[in-house]
Amino acid sequence: MSEWCQNKKCPEKKTQTQIRGTKGNKYYQSNKASGYYGHWCSMGCREQWWNEHKDTCINAVGFIDKQVLPLEDAWYVKADYTWNSGDCNYLYFLVNKNKGIKQQITREQAQSPEDIERHIEYFTIDDTQARELAIELGLAQAS
Ligand SMILES: [Zn+2]
Repeated sequence: MSEWCQNKKCPEKKTQTQIRGTKGNKYYQSNKASGYYGHWCSMGCREQWWNEHKDTCINAVGFIDKQVLPLEDAWYVKADYTWNSGDCNYLYFLVNKNKGIKQQITREQAQSPEDIERHIEYFTIDDTQARELAIELGLAQAS
């Protein structure tokens, strides 16, 4: 780990805030990496780094073949935003388009306890968890 932006061309942005040094010996320096962008200071620096290193990354991770998801198993949870007499709220549904199912579920079923605690109402559980919920509710068979 480094606290500095990992794009070696970061100083070439030449922003005012990157200037350091004393008179006659001034220079531009890298920005610090920011939490939001991970090891980079910005989306632009991340993009530049990625363009230079993507082959190294994909070779390190390894290539995979085509992935498939049977429609029968393609469950997901959807948060719909609705207005009710001037009040806005979210309704949650467990959906499988192949089976023509769109069943309303509770917020506790649709979200993780962390999401509920953080009041991020549009977040929902992932597709694997959605499928588990479908099995729990007797809408899908466990395989
Ligand atoms: Zn940078």
